[in-house]
Amino acid sequence: MVQPTQPTKDIAGTRNEIHGRCHCGEITFDAEVDPGAVNTRHCTDCQTPSGSAFRVNIPAPAEHFVLLSGTPETYAKTAESCNKRLHVFCGTCATPIYACAVDNRRAMVCGRTITQRALFSRRRQSWRRSALRWVDSLAAVPASEKGATSQYRAPASLRAPPPYRV
Ligand SMILES: [Zn+2]
Repeated sequence: MVQPTQPTKDIAGTRNEIHGRCHCGEITFDAEVDPGAVNTRHCTDCQTPSGSAFRVNIPAPAEHFVLLSGTPETYAKTAESCNKRLHVFCGTCATPIYACAVDNRRAMVCGRTITQRALFSRRRQSWRRSALRWVDSLAAVPASEKGATSQYRAPASLRAPPPYRV
């Protein structure tokens, strides 16, 4: 098993061993991937489960993906591309682990679960037609190194609990 602190060289065309885990730690896995195959996907099917503007995926052939702990849950969904995809996630914390075609178990590992994710360069983007318009200007938005920015405080009307309906 690769330790989280083990340095990983990001060299396209080579195969690197990665370690991954869900948010709660119940699901852990090892995989071998090509860092050059990292893809940033902007499709709406990736935006929803990622909880963000895009999802970063890296393919791992089934024979190079080893589930170390946990029993993930699955569901199938027809994607924006019209392909039927099997989505694999942690049943406890709902973190997406990977997705694959229902008839081809090449896993598209979700980048956010990879312990060494900060070491991989972004080389490709797909589904740019669905990209949120603010994605390219994010670097110019005021930021803080930790926590929320001190420049914004929501009005009291927005800080009250929302009126949930059950
Ligand atoms: Zn979990």
